[in-house]
Amino acid sequence: MTEKLYYADPGRFSFDACVLECREGKGRWEIVLDRSAFFPEGGGQGGDAGTLGGVRVTDTHEREGTVVHWCDGPLSVGAVVEGCVDAALRFARMQVHSGEHIISGTAHREWGCENVGFHMTENGAVIDFDRELDEEQLERLEFLANEAVWRDLPIRTLFPSPEELSGLSFRQKKELSGEIRLVEIPGVDLCACCAPHVKSTGSVGQIRFTSAMRHRGGVRLTMTAGRAALSDARMLHANAEVVSRLFSAPREETAAAAERFAAQRNALEQRCAELEKKYTALRAASFPCGERDLLCFEDSAASSAALRDLAEALADKCSGIAGAFAGEGSRWRYVLASKTADLRAFGRDFNAALRGRGGGGPSMIQGSVNTSRKEIEDLVYGKEG
Ligand SMILES: [Zn+2]
Repeated sequence: MTEKLYYADPGRFSFDACVLECREGKGRWEIVLDRSAFFPEGGGQGGDAGTLGGVRVTDTHEREGTVVHWCDGPLSVGAVVEGCVDAALRFARMQVHSGEHIISGTAHREWGCENVGFHMTENGAVIDFDRELDEEQLERLEFLANEAVWRDLPIRTLFPSPEELSGLSFRQKKELSGEIRLVEIPGVDLCACCAPHVKSTGSVGQIRFTSAMRHRGGVRLTMTAGRAALSDARMLHANAEVVSRLFSAPREETAAAAERFAAQRNALEQRCAELEKKYTALRAASFPCGERDLLCFEDSAASSAALRDLAEALADKCSGIAGAFAGEGSRWRYVLASKTADLRAFGRDFNAALRGRGGGGPSMIQGSVNTSRKEIEDLVYGKEG
């Protein structure tokens, strides 16, 4: 059993310890010490990284009460080594994890929500509650959580006796046995948890929800806090700057500017479709009647709808196969149509000869070919028939 220094002082990131075991594992060395400030994965929080006597610790796990450090090199058994926990990583995780306690405890107190799922991500955490919260309640929850931070409440750890425990009402995520460790934030949360937390709520920093969606009859909340919340705010700020510049709108008016832009774009798309329809009618009218086959070639921006309209209109004017193509050089999208021939067999030959792909029904097929305009014309105009 390793002496767990992270319980006595979660803010301790360096320590000396004696190497008790060093075993070669799968692509790593597994090192056990007499005592450690490295937190092994648990309670939804990831295992610590850092260095141990000059070798890198990539992860930390617990095996029957023993802390196992996954290292990229061996250490001598019996040696006294210095351990350094990656403090920035651990503190950021403790901020998010402690923030999660504040949110879950507050949601439980205010609306009776149970936390039924929790995992930490690189930039925050995902929390599942068993009941839905509307937008107003979520806004209130976020506010109350931040208010608990501003009050800088102590975060305490208790090891109650079985008798004391029976008189306590606390949150727990699974059935527990043996000694139970409770984490208390007065007036906010009392929860069984094995992970280290920051010493008071003020250290959590800002708590922010980054998304909320319905999930299995409840709500799935994505949150961030502290250092991760600062990174998130910087990302949002950088995005807002770009959007603000693109729309020539002040930051607080970018949403309205984007909505105006989307409406204008929709109107333009509609106008564009109308003009393309008019164009295809005029374009089809410019072809003669009475030919066997008719092919028309458009630039690569022509829409699929325009190609279909063109092919259909040309098929009405000719006795064989009508084709509408969009592209340039050796890449063309196509629609072939016919009022007389079954195009399915012809389509297979057409694709095989012109390195293309596509398909459809007897009267219309569509696809793309990798060939020149001349080869297309030679194949269609030169076919037997
Ligand atoms: Zn916890």
